[in-house]
Amino acid sequence: MADFVKVTVPTGKIRQEPKPDGHVLLELKAGQELELLERQRRYSRVRYRDHFQDITGWIANVAINLPKGNHESITDDLPSCPFCGSETWLEKGIRTGGNSLLIGNLFSGDYAHSRICLGCGYIQLHISSSALRRIQAEQERQARE
Ligand SMILES: [Zn+2]
Repeated sequence: MADFVKVTVPTGKIRQEPKPDGHVLLELKAGQELELLERQRRYSRVRYRDHFQDITGWIANVAINLPKGNHESITDDLPSCPFCGSETWLEKGIRTGGNSLLIGNLFSGDYAHSRICLGCGYIQLHISSSALRRIQAEQERQARE
């Protein structure tokens, strides 16, 4: 099911690129609804649709009411990229289905989350905390044997 967010500032700007000087595609008023497609550290990719237009672009996270406790909020704790220092990551989680990576037989059924640095393209992978706990428990079992 799609997530929706609302514009919380007087003028919400949807931009072509996730940066302050990105080309403005559309201006929205406070309270207007957007479909949330993807969330990044500072910007979210959103889609605005009405009878006349269908526009997908980026809006600053401070301009919308992002859901709290969202599992993707882990992005907020991310350190900057170890290679280029960029703080802009593209997070791909379980929910995005086709964009997730499945790690072979090692953790069968567990999907890795991936983060892509938009500065240099570095990809960081990590698994869910529940999968990590299972692996830790398995390690302890093996250590005891
Ligand atoms: Zn980088």
